[in-house]
Amino acid sequence: MRIAGFVKTTLQDWEGKNACMILLGGCNFRCPYCNRPDLAEGTGEDLDVSAVLRYIKENRDFLEAVVISGGEPTINADLYKLIADIRKLKVKIKLDTNGYAPDILDDLVGAKLVDKVCINIMAPLDAVSYSKAAGVEVDVELIRRSLRILDESGIAYEIRTVAVPGVITHDSFVKLLGDVDGSKSMIIQQFDPRVTLDPKMNIKPYPTPALVRMAETAKGFVERVRVRGL
Ligand code: SF4
Repeated sequence: MRIAGFVKTTLQDWEGKNACMILLGGCNFRCPYCNRPDLAEGTGEDLDVSAVLRYIKENRDFLEAVVISGGEPTINADLYKLIADIRKLKVKIKLDTNGYAPDILDDLVGAKLVDKVCINIMAPLDAVSYSKAAGVEVDVELIRRSLRILDESGIAYEIRTVAVPGVITHDSFVKLLGDVDGSKSMIIQQFDPRVTLDPKMNIKPYPTPALVRMAETAKGFVERVRVRGL
């Protein structure tokens, strides 16, 4: 288990909650637009797990929640133990995931070890589009299964899509919306070109009106839509 980063307090990563965020190193995808190549490649910091748990314990008076993000948390063999240890501290837990490990997600949700999940949906759920977005060959059925698990679990979850020019067009976004039709919550995240896994992705983000148009379109499929990063 490599805790590759720790944010002591954030108000942005779980709306309405004062949270801290644990960033786990390593990822099974290689999204060219990834803003945290250090985390994707597992080269971030290597923090002491017990020190992080101690901080959470000692600051429970103002910390309501812990967000576990990455990288991709589900590739860490000790994730279950980490979450179980945080659970004992009586704080809420949100998991950020790319949805490529439905069995692990099913276990965590089934054992009620997480209170909320944010699942990154990068492209329409067809192999060509998704593999291009993820930078590796993707079996989209695994992601479909994760979406079904979340849908049937009754757990709070949100879809997060980064609006990357060249990865998502308005038309492909409409296809993506068809794959998540009926979901309760979606975040459309503005693309940040400052640091990217593939240096060639140093491209201009969509202008604000394009994201606002995407959000308007998304409202026909998803109950609640927010745009972040403008
Ligand atoms: S953006 Fe892609 S490569 Fe980067 S951490 Fe998320 S899933 Fe992994």
